[in-house]
Amino acid sequence: MNDYVAGPTSLAVPAEAAAHAVNPWVAFAYLVAGVCFILALRGLSHPTTSRQGNRYGMIGMTIAVVTTLVTHDIASLPEIGIAIFLGGTIGWVIARKIAMTDMPQLVAAFHSLVGLAAVLVGWAAYLNPGAFGILGEGGAISPVSRVEMGLGIAIGAITFSGSIIAFLKLAGKMSGAPIMLPGRHFINLGTLAAILGLTVYFTQDQSFWIIAVITVLAFIIGFLLIIPIGGADMPVVVSMLNSYSGWAAAAMGFTLHNTAMIITGALVGASGAILSYIMCKAMNRGFLSVIAGGFGADAGGGGGGAAQTDRPWKRGSAEDAAFMMSQAEQVIIIPGYGMAVAQAQHVLREMTDLLKEKGVTVKFAIHPVAGRMPGHMNVLLAEANVPYDEVFELEDINGEFAQTDVAFIIGANDVVNPAAKTDKSSPIYGMPVFEVDKAKQVFFIKRSMGGVGYAGVDNDVFYMDQTMMLLSDAKKMVEEINKSLAD
Ligand code: NDP
Repeated sequence: MNDYVAGPTSLAVPAEAAAHAVNPWVAFAYLVAGVCFILALRGLSHPTTSRQGNRYGMIGMTIAVVTTLVTHDIASLPEIGIAIFLGGTIGWVIARKIAMTDMPQLVAAFHSLVGLAAVLVGWAAYLNPGAFGILGEGGAISPVSRVEMGLGIAIGAITFSGSIIAFLKLAGKMSGAPIMLPGRHFINLGTLAAILGLTVYFTQDQSFWIIAVITVLAFIIGFLLIIPIGGADMPVVVSMLNSYSGWAAAAMGFTLHNTAMIITGALVGASGAILSYIMCKAMNRGFLSVIAGGFGADAGGGGGGAAQTDRPWKRGSAEDAAFMMSQAEQVIIIPGYGMAVAQAQHVLREMTDLLKEKGVTVKFAIHPVAGRMPGHMNVLLAEANVPYDEVFELEDINGEFAQTDVAFIIGANDVVNPAAKTDKSSPIYGMPVFEVDKAKQVFFIKRSMGGVGYAGVDNDVFYMDQTMMLLSDAKKMVEEINKSLAD
């Protein structure tokens, strides 16, 4: 499949005349698709325009896929039909079955497939270069194509194994705490240098062993880069792998000589990298230190253990919360992963409606890493029709806790943990957190005192004088609060 090979329709360029000619209609269609993707990204940058952004994305993808199918001699229609049917069915079944809370690991799993696809395309091109139109002088693979192939396979393999580790960590099938190998920076740098060196050597010698070693080393480095990352750095890794999957797709585009894939891959790669950078800044992390695989992380900082239930703490009830909040001037709600688990966003919206009817000002405070995906909380609140102007980012609302009567923490934990400011050995140290300790009253919903947040550390907020623990499933607790508020 490439832009230069003849296809079955009148738009196609005859193969023999097409060594380096690009069919102008194909180029034009891909350009339109590329513009749609850019408009899609622009639309997705704000909740109010995100639906329109999604529509642009779908239109762009339809144009790109249809253009590719009608102008490229890829496979017969029945073969394509079978592939679409099989892939579509698997996607449909997964989409029906997957719980919203399992989305982060699903995204990681899908990133791994993009990486694997890049590896397979690279290998297919290596084994059958004639079919990819990449033969140069003397029947050897052209040197430029060899560089593209080496880098494409390497990026794809890193994306694949890195995403598998991210999947296992996010799905709780592997400890979320950082795993620090001794001398890991030297191993990582050495392996990366070996991959680059071999890719350069591959331009001189297209032996099988070279591309095989590049592939194996890249699988290993993907694994090594992600295992030392844990705690507060995991969200950055999710968006980083998103970025890698984009570069892997762009690399595939070079191998396949498909400009639409190069454009799309580069857009995904660049936007993922920008998102990772923004998240690093928001969380006080060095971008390079995270992408270099936990560089600078403290080897001893993995998880501080469960809550110390022997420390005194106060238990509150739904009635207490309803009473105190109805008397408040301002309530700030801090949602976290537990709200997603309980699917409590709709009853929470009802609670805010009831409070507003009583003249209480209600605001939502969203931490950049709350939940398990970038934007996780924003999506859930939008689904429950929470007005956008009631939703505030960390830096815009953190100064308001001192003038707030009630901080209402629902399923959040790490994002309100003061250890991030005070405990250098904590895996979340350095991450900015909500200053809920400044609020007059704190309600903290979680299911049990034993449960910990993603980073696996105890939280001093449980034991503060002004904190009342509301131990229950979040949805059930808010339903009870709503009953009390309505009485
Ligand atoms: P946390 O993971 O810190 O805490 C979740 C809390 O929800 C726990 O206290 C848990 O306690 C409670 N909980 C779970 N289920 C329920 C339920 N059904 N009802 C009530 N409470 C429940 O969440 P945060 O959102 O505060 O922090 C996010 C963490 O995840 C950060 O450490 C971040 O680095 C990490 N992360 C974020 C990603 C992202 O992209 N946003 C990606 C990967 C990791 P209990 O079990 O006792 O109920």
